[in-house]
Formats: sequence, structure tokens, C-alpha cells
Amino acid sequence: MLLSYQFVPPFCPQPDCPMHYEGRHPAKWYRKDGHHDTACFGSVQRYLCKHCDHSFSTQSFSLDYYAKRLVDYEQIFRQLRSTVGIRDLARNLEISRGSVQNRIFRMARWSLAQHCLAGETLHVNEDLAFDGFEGYTRSKYFPHHLNILIGMQSQFFYAMDFTTLRRKGTMSAAQRLYRSFLDQRCRPDRKGVEKSICRLAEKIACLCRRSSKDPLYLYSDDHQAYPRALYRNHNLSTLIAEGRVVHLHSKSTKEPGRGNSMFSVNYMDRQLRKDMVNYVRKTVNVAKNVCCLLDRLCIYRMHHNFIKPYRENSPKSGITHGSLAGCDMGWMNNLLARRFVHRPFASLLPLEAGERGIWFRLFNTPMKCGGEYLPKYARG
Ligand SMILES: [Zn+2]
Repeated sequence: MLLSYQFVPPFCPQPDCPMHYEGRHPAKWYRKDGHHDTACFGSVQRYLCKHCDHSFSTQSFSLDYYAKRLVDYEQIFRQLRSTVGIRDLARNLEISRGSVQNRIFRMARWSLAQHCLAGETLHVNEDLAFDGFEGYTRSKYFPHHLNILIGMQSQFFYAMDFTTLRRKGTMSAAQRLYRSFLDQRCRPDRKGVEKSICRLAEKIACLCRRSSKDPLYLYSDDHQAYPRALYRNHNLSTLIAEGRVVHLHSKSTKEPGRGNSMFSVNYMDRQLRKDMVNYVRKTVNVAKNVCCLLDRLCIYRMHHNFIKPYRENSPKSGITHGSLAGCDMGWMNNLLARRFVHRPFASLLPLEAGERGIWFRLFNTPMKCGGEYLPKYARG
């Protein structure tokens, strides 16, 4: 997206510069510094920060920073939430798979930033439920838990975290042998679930501090690692000791339906199973990379929370999961009207531990050699 020529730089893009903050700046903190011509965006105005001597351009604030061709983000967004895979998208848009992945990477950071800002305005007035949603990455030898935190009444998707598990259940002798072979190369962390829920607990503690509910009930199934993980987080264990958070767990085998305390997470499980191509049962579109899967989930979460109607049978009601959770939808709709235009900066966002993991691609993909590639423009 090409930004307007009348554009005024809102701040210096260098994270360590004193002018790197949003809000009012002193007059003349930058000066114009010529322009450069690009094949894709035409003439691009350059600026020079008088405080740190770094130069930047209008493109530094665009989601298309460093991009070399224009791709319709809305097309990707529309298809991605309707069970379309990366290769399908590449064929439909007649671009390479790499270009599709790159645009999804950018859209995911925009969606994460928007979710993060919306979270700052939220005052939780409902109980919460969390659970591990099971899927697998690469092959069935690497199942995972996507730990999700959902609002009991609004079904607002508050947070997620990820952990890879060791394959369990009935296996043939050959499968057991192959699993032990894989274990030598890549054995998932035994405490993975506990660590993941502990990161999620940080988000729960943060939400609880801004909640009007006292006490706030936290529902989960009776997984043995959950109580340990919640107490492992210092902030949440303090809130539990003060009686401001009460953890209730029930058997996951209870009959599904609205009467089940886990209804909201079961509802979210169903949504993911039908809308995310990687989670469709018996699919061949298995996610190959954990970080790319989490990027796609960030975009889906943004759609689920703020764009999709609360119930698809009443699309004109104007009610979304976000409006029920108490988000200021006037402000949010303003933001959504300009979606996928501006580049978000991690340094200006209050990212939680799990969100930092997604933004900076800190989650490991099983059997992947080397670290995850993180473009320079995503580090700021
Ligand atoms: Zn500067």
C-alpha cells in the first residue's frame, strides 16, 4: 500500500531514538532528505531524523515496507479464513508461495498489534475458560497443544500459546521404534504443557487486574499439569491466594453443549476445525512450520473477535465477540477500516510473553534445522 504524499512521519522508526514514541513531538524533529524511485511505489520521499541521524522514508511506516510488489491483502484475508491453504492462495493470486507467506507474516503482525491494543482497552466482565486444542505439525509424531483462553459469555479469543507434545496413544511396534528414532533427534519438552500454561497465566493475571469481576472464575478440564502451571506463575498465584481468581476444573468427558462449563472452548475448537485448513480432520494440509501456523492463527483470531458476527445466523445484528467482551467497537471499526496499511512496531506494543514468542518467532518447529528467519523490519 502506497502512503499519501502528504504523509507526516509520526515518529522516528529507530527503536533506540528519543523520538521513537507515539504522540506529540517537538517541531522540526526531522527534515526532508530527497527521494528515491521505486518500480512498485513510484517516487518515495525520504526523511532524516535530527536526533539520531538515521534516514527513513514514507515506506518505513507502510505494511509493504521492503516489499517489491503489490499484493491484495484483502484477497488473502478473505480466502485464508475460508479453509484455503498456502498453495491454493498462490495459485489463485498467481504469485509464489513465498510471496503469500511473506504477506501473511506482515498481516499477522498487524493483527497481533491490533489485538494487543484492543486488550489494553478491555475490562473483563466475564469468567474465562482455557484448554489445550490438539493438532499436529509436520507429522502425527509431533502432536501439539494450542492452549487457548476464551471468554465464557462472549466467546472472545483472549490469548493463545503453543507447545509440541510427544506422540502418545496406541502404536504398532514399528511406530514405537520410529518414535524412539525421532526422540534422539528431537524430543519435545516433558514440561511443555506446564510452561505454556504458565505463559498463558501471565495474560490471565493481566486481564484479572483490569477485571470488574471479583472473584474471576477460571474454568479448565482436569489436566494434572494445569494447577501446577497456574501456581508456577507468580502474579497469578498471588491473585489465587488473595481469592481474586478461583480455578475450577471439571472432567472433559462431560456431555458437550451449553450446560458444559467448557462450552466456550469447545465452540472455539469447532470454529478452528472448520475454518483453519490445518485443523480440518483428515486434511492433507498439515502445518509444516509452527511459527507460520501461529501467524495464520493471529489473523484468524482478529477476524473471529472483531469482524465475524457473534452468530452467523444473525449477521445484521452488529454484535461481535469483541463488542460482547466490552471492546470499544467504534474505535475498533475505525482501526479495521484501515487494516493492513500501517506497519506495526513491536517496540511500541505491550506484548505479553506468548505474544512476544509469536512476534519474534521463538517457537520451535520439530526437526527444523537452524533458527527461524525473522526479517529485519519485524525486529523494530
Ligand atoms: Zn531518530
